[in-house]
Amino acid sequence: MPELPEVETVCRGLEEHLLGRRLGRTLIRRSDLRIPIPDHFTKVTKGACFKRFERIGKYILAYLDNGMVIIIHLGMSGRFSIKKDVKDSHGPHDHVVFYTYDGSVIRFTDHRRFGLITLCSSNEVKFHPLLAKLGPDPFSNLFNGNFLSERLANTRRSIKAALLDQTIVSGLGNIYVCESLYYSGISPNRHAHTIKNNRANRLATAICSVLSKAIEAGGSSLQDYKQTDGEMGYFQHQFSVYDREGKSCPDCDCNGSIKRTIQNGRSTYYCSKRQR
Ligand SMILES: [Zn+2]
Repeated sequence: MPELPEVETVCRGLEEHLLGRRLGRTLIRRSDLRIPIPDHFTKVTKGACFKRFERIGKYILAYLDNGMVIIIHLGMSGRFSIKKDVKDSHGPHDHVVFYTYDGSVIRFTDHRRFGLITLCSSNEVKFHPLLAKLGPDPFSNLFNGNFLSERLANTRRSIKAALLDQTIVSGLGNIYVCESLYYSGISPNRHAHTIKNNRANRLATAICSVLSKAIEAGGSSLQDYKQTDGEMGYFQHQFSVYDREGKSCPDCDCNGSIKRTIQNGRSTYYCSKRQR
């Protein structure tokens, strides 16, 4: 499932190819994604120019010069491919195909259909029901150790569960939560309200550093995820704990091995010697 680094990579790919370009027609082959694509989508976007791209958590916002914003979420398996060849035939899971005036074809492919594409006016976008309750993005100025400890002070949940909650901080999923907890030396089972002071600072720093490294690697390709040019991401080769059950801990002073446990129905990978 795409998390912040994969979404950021896709957002940069879209920006690189589409900024300043004008949208022609949009072919909606299936509109029943996680939420239905609005009926007026094609009419409202036709002829508009892409003027800015932004990512908040796992959402991509494409600002058009007609005052509208296309809101995109990749869900579990959504991806974009950008090609120059209009004649390419559509695949069975190519649900939306965008054509630019200058001949690019942008396909949104999503076999599980948990992704979404919808529209909103730019002055209402921050209040849109999908976005209004999101916690800050880890790369925003609001996010630091103090912020984290304040938001975690009243929760009895584990730190793992709290970090997956998009209303506390947005953009993290299972992979990058496991990796960040490893780097900050925090047990995934620790009660979230005990994360304070130095420990909170360490965690906030680890989150940003793991995410930055993953963005540099173009994200992690495990199942469906690819960059917009069809390239894989490469961060899966740099995982310290995720999907490494039984392998040795990368910390050479540790001599421990990576363990797997189930929390809230999902696998957690960690080193019990290093993470307290
Ligand atoms: Zn270890």
